[in-house]
Amino acid sequence: MSGAAFPAAGGGTEPVPSVDLAAEWREIAAEAEPRVLEVLRSQQFVLGPAVASFEQAVAGRIGVAHAMGVASGSDALLLSLMALDVGPGDEVVTSAFTFFATASAITRLGATPVFADVRRDDFLLDPEAVRAAVGPRTRVLLPVHLYGQCADFPALDAIARSAGAAIVEDAAQAIGAARDGRAAGTVGDLAAFSFYPTKNLGAAGDAGLVTTGDDRLAARVRRLRVHGSEKRYEHLEVGINSRMDGIQGALLEVKLRRLDAWTRARAARAARYDGLIASAGLDGHVATPVVHPGSLHVFHQYVVRAERRDDLRAHLAARGISSEVYYPIPLHLQECFADLGWRRGDLPETERAAAESLALPIYPQLSDAQQDRVVEAIAAFYR
Ligand SMILES: *Cc1c(COP(=O)(O)O)cnc(C)c1O
Repeated sequence: MSGAAFPAAGGGTEPVPSVDLAAEWREIAAEAEPRVLEVLRSQQFVLGPAVASFEQAVAGRIGVAHAMGVASGSDALLLSLMALDVGPGDEVVTSAFTFFATASAITRLGATPVFADVRRDDFLLDPEAVRAAVGPRTRVLLPVHLYGQCADFPALDAIARSAGAAIVEDAAQAIGAARDGRAAGTVGDLAAFSFYPTKNLGAAGDAGLVTTGDDRLAARVRRLRVHGSEKRYEHLEVGINSRMDGIQGALLEVKLRRLDAWTRARAARAARYDGLIASAGLDGHVATPVVHPGSLHVFHQYVVRAERRDDLRAHLAARGISSEVYYPIPLHLQECFADLGWRRGDLPETERAAAESLALPIYPQLSDAQQDRVVEAIAAFYR
């Protein structure tokens, strides 16, 4: 798409997608293509020097001692819980307003997810609800830094300490985020990141990362990701096969150098949405995201609460404007977790969030004209 596709502010008719990966690729292709080709020529496809180099770079950016490249964010969660020996009889307190993998990592190990409700203002785990959900079997608290804003670290820290539980951060949407001066990926005993292509730092396929400040846990994850092996064909325990590909490491290292600029662009887009929505007088119909003082929100998504959400979404779609719902069915109501015994009404704020939230298009290359069109279309709906 050329710049000419959006001739005049507000006047365009081009579709507004939810993400524009092609625009991102155009920014980095010249730098990334030779690096990827280098990996192909080296034939070092699994882990290898490109992954080691990325691991070091991303650990430095996050400010954490250890970063381990794995096959996906889902596996990063699974490996983090495996490294803590979570298993049958253990409970993990987490959110039901998140991507499926947050909870499936728990059940895959035979442990039980205990869902705590989220707060109405920020969609993040409510520390009071977490405190009430903690019991004698609680081994881990698993907060999700949903949409790119960190969970309430100090409160969760205090609960984990008094319960003798570990913390695993689901930081899949939150690379670069921080709260009260502490970065996502540095607060928990372990943290899981995803580089799924549409994440703020996206691979050319599936990839993920585990971070930890603990030498022993880092060594454990390194061996669990290669079938529990430290020396070839000697298996100390049963792990899984979950390693980052060399091509992903090479590409991600190139993209990492752009991450801070891209994050600033996302935050600027978010602030501009706030302003446009307020000046269109939409406050009564659309609630804009809450960013806490001391919170560095990286706006993986810009999520509003909207009156008559589904009708608004259809109205936008009819005008070529994409929007998404993350997530329409909370995890406690998923068919596959029916045997856990949760009922509609058990998590009122989670269920309300699933019914009211709407993610508007946000990505670094989103233009002013595109943003104007989105907000004008919302205003037309409520007029
Ligand atoms: C993307 C995501 C995951 C899973 O990551 P994959 O790389 O897709 O496996 C886990 N949790 C959350 C909150 C996510 O957004």
